[in-house]
Amino acid sequence: FLPHLVASMEDVEETYIMVKPDGVQRGLVGEMISRFEKKGFKLTGLKLFQCPQELAEEHYKDLKSKSFFPKLISYITSGPVVCMAWEGVGVVASARKLIGATNPLQAEPGTIRGDLAVQTGRNVIHGSDSPDNGKREIVIPFLCNKNILSVYDYSRFLICLL
Ligand code: UDP
Ligand code: MG
Repeated sequence: FLPHLVASMEDVEETYIMVKPDGVQRGLVGEMISRFEKKGFKLTGLKLFQCPQELAEEHYKDLKSKSFFPKLISYITSGPVVCMAWEGVGVVASARKLIGATNPLQAEPGTIRGDLAVQTGRNVIHGSDSPDNGKREIVIPFLCNKNILSVYDYSRFLICLL
């Protein structure tokens, strides 16, 4: 046992990852999950979810003033998404690196968007941009009772909701 090599619990973060409708329709869910698993992160929540418009707007509320907002909401609500919570040290920033740039043409080869997508408006996956947004975004699908299939440790929300 080498305590100095073991991450303390304070370093463990959680992020919200969502495979967008195009990723689900194209059969890329397993490929994307595999990349986070192989990196060494822990899957702590999973839900296949048809996102209602009001929850899509809540999720993307910071982008409400953008011209692409209406198209973004119709994209995200166009079919089922796969919502995931992933846990690990540095998982928020690391997941963003694994995902790659917003515009898939600018995303590096080897990243999810760099390898699997072409258009910004069809960029297959979402990842939280900060630990605070991770906590905020995870709650949206997992507390919604319009379940298709959901597995999550709900005791976490006792902490989130306090
Ligand atoms: N988006 C778009 N047009 C743009 C910028 C963003 O359609 O010019 C979409 C795209 O699907 C992106 C999402 O809006 O993933 C959220 O934008 P953000 O800037 O937060 O990018 P992300 O964090 O997903 O890389
Ligand atoms: Mg973002």
